[in-house]
Amino acid sequence: MLEHQNMLAKYKELLKINEKLTQLHWIVAQVAGETDLNTMHNLILNGFMQIAEVPGCHFILLDDNGIPFQTVKRSIEDNPFVSCEAYQKIFSQINTIGNQNLLLPHSHFCNNCSGECGLAMLQILPLHNKHGNPLAVLLAQHLNHPTINDETQMILELFTIQVSLALENAMLNKKFENLSITDALTGLYNHRYFAERLQKEVSLCSCMPKELCLIMLDVDKFKNYNDSFGHPAGDRVLKTMSKTFTQTIRPMDVVARYGGEEFAFILPNTSPQEGIHLAEKIRCAVANTDFAYRPITASLGVAHYPAHTPHSIELLKLADKALYQAKANGRNRVVVASDIE
Ligand code: GH3
Ligand code: MG
Ligand code: MG
Repeated sequence: MLEHQNMLAKYKELLKINEKLTQLHWIVAQVAGETDLNTMHNLILNGFMQIAEVPGCHFILLDDNGIPFQTVKRSIEDNPFVSCEAYQKIFSQINTIGNQNLLLPHSHFCNNCSGECGLAMLQILPLHNKHGNPLAVLLAQHLNHPTINDETQMILELFTIQVSLALENAMLNKKFENLSITDALTGLYNHRYFAERLQKEVSLCSCMPKELCLIMLDVDKFKNYNDSFGHPAGDRVLKTMSKTFTQTIRPMDVVARYGGEEFAFILPNTSPQEGIHLAEKIRCAVANTDFAYRPITASLGVAHYPAHTPHSIELLKLADKALYQAKANGRNRVVVASDIE
């Protein structure tokens, strides 16, 4: 009778492991097939919660130095862990946790908690790249002791290995994707990205219908600056100026290095008046920036779709014409396409 009961218990245990392994299989397949990084984060977080049977979880993403740069959370209201000292402590020591899957009593990190929280177990699951460097940490508190067993811990180890690989690949892809659309000197979008984005934005305008402004900017007398103070000093000006641009534009605007000392701004849903206003703001921001050696100014041309042209293809030409008019009129000024003689 006892033997029969033991066998039944063992059978139930095996069924549970089988169920968990099937769960693991589907979760890993989903994660590995995902190309969007944010969706992948959520799949990993949900998968971890399912396998570990925890009610909430923190997924902490680490940069190349092991410093947290983003946290994706799923917490239940009454999970006491998130507001307690232990969580803060682990968070501050996250880059010293090592690469072991840890299951530790809550009291290991916090002596102040009593009751349910004080007795609970913390699950800390570090994710690593293939060189053993940390990528992320999954952090949760078990509220229900009986679910913690060796099999679950083993399945969590398998989960860690497989999703780490998928996460590393997705992060590398994102890095390369970012590099391919970024200008190396300034960190702004490059010409290729700008051309593609402009085409997208204008085609969106023509079918909605919507409006947009395009600003072209060229640094004044920059050859003279380079000749006087050297090319590296000129490079520093371009870098500083790019920071000024990103601080001056609105979140919806796009700024790119068009080439050399020329920059382009796409301003979606922007009227001609708003476009001129922003161009003037950018011009003033450049003129008021404290560059080394001497002040720097820029000339800007503004064109609006559809007020200045019903043909999206002409927008760039018009903004460029306006920019050269600004140069001809004496530099350090904004000219609008409608004002070109
Ligand atoms: P203008 O007011 O007519 O625009 O005069 P300018 O001197 O700015 O125009 P020009 O086209 O004669 O010279 C552009 C200069 O920009 C020459 C080039 O050395 C410099 N330049 C272009 N790209 C870079 C860069 O990446 N770094 C540095 N330091 N200089 C650059
Ligand atoms: Mg130029
Ligand atoms: Mg110039």
